[in-house]
Amino acid sequence: MNGRVAAVRLVDVSRTFREGSHSVVHAVKNVNLEFGRGTLTLVMGPSGSGKTTLLSLVGGLLAPSEGDIEVDSVRLASLSPAALTEFRLRRVGFIYQRFRLLDALSASENIELPLTLAGVSRPKSRQRAVALAARVGLDDRLGARARSLSGGEQQRVAIARALANDPPVLLADEPTGSLDSVAGQRIIELLHGAATEGASVVVATHDERLVPFADMVVRMEDGRVVDVARG
Ligand code: ADP
Ligand code: MG
Repeated sequence: MNGRVAAVRLVDVSRTFREGSHSVVHAVKNVNLEFGRGTLTLVMGPSGSGKTTLLSLVGGLLAPSEGDIEVDSVRLASLSPAALTEFRLRRVGFIYQRFRLLDALSASENIELPLTLAGVSRPKSRQRAVALAARVGLDDRLGARARSLSGGEQQRVAIARALANDPPVLLADEPTGSLDSVAGQRIIELLHGAATEGASVVVATHDERLVPFADMVVRMEDGRVVDVARG
């Protein structure tokens, strides 16, 4: 597999939001980008510049107002609602800014959730959760309720959950934002590792410490891409 093959392509993508009855917010404006297989891309820019909206578009959580998004040459707009759900479940891992774990479930149950939804049976999903927990350094916390975990531990559960189905597209929204530098370093190593194994990894961040790990750095302002630097 060619490491530079574009797995994700955005063609003139815009997304607007209606604010009240009169004004419209242009969250993402005329964006053209390609994210290669096996690469780590950072999307950087001030708060409100469109980073989260861009990730949500790539992950099929939001539809563009204009333009096209293609993943492995499939236009997301051409997918039926059921096929789009399958796409999100099997092809995309999403690490949300505030983790979005299910508080009442254990760490293991959170990690197993996408596997269960994908039809993987219990002993197998448990096995996979154990392996993923080891990978993110959470082995001893698998049985703990999500709500009792520290911020750094919750973040690692969120990453393990995002990796559960081995998704070719991994999206992370400010994953090191609330973490100290040691925990942050660990997270970026995990994301970088996923890219090394062939995923297209896209990370929205303010954290300049991540720049040395990136193959591409996209800078956004007011919904537009204002600079693309390749490492
Ligand atoms: P960032 O992640 O870079 O902080 P966002 O993508 O969250 O930026 O937001 C970009 C712009 O779009 C902001 O002006 C924000 O207020 C607006 N926006 C984002 N999501 C919505 C929404 N669901 N409804 C209305 N406006 C939104
Ligand atoms: Mg954001």
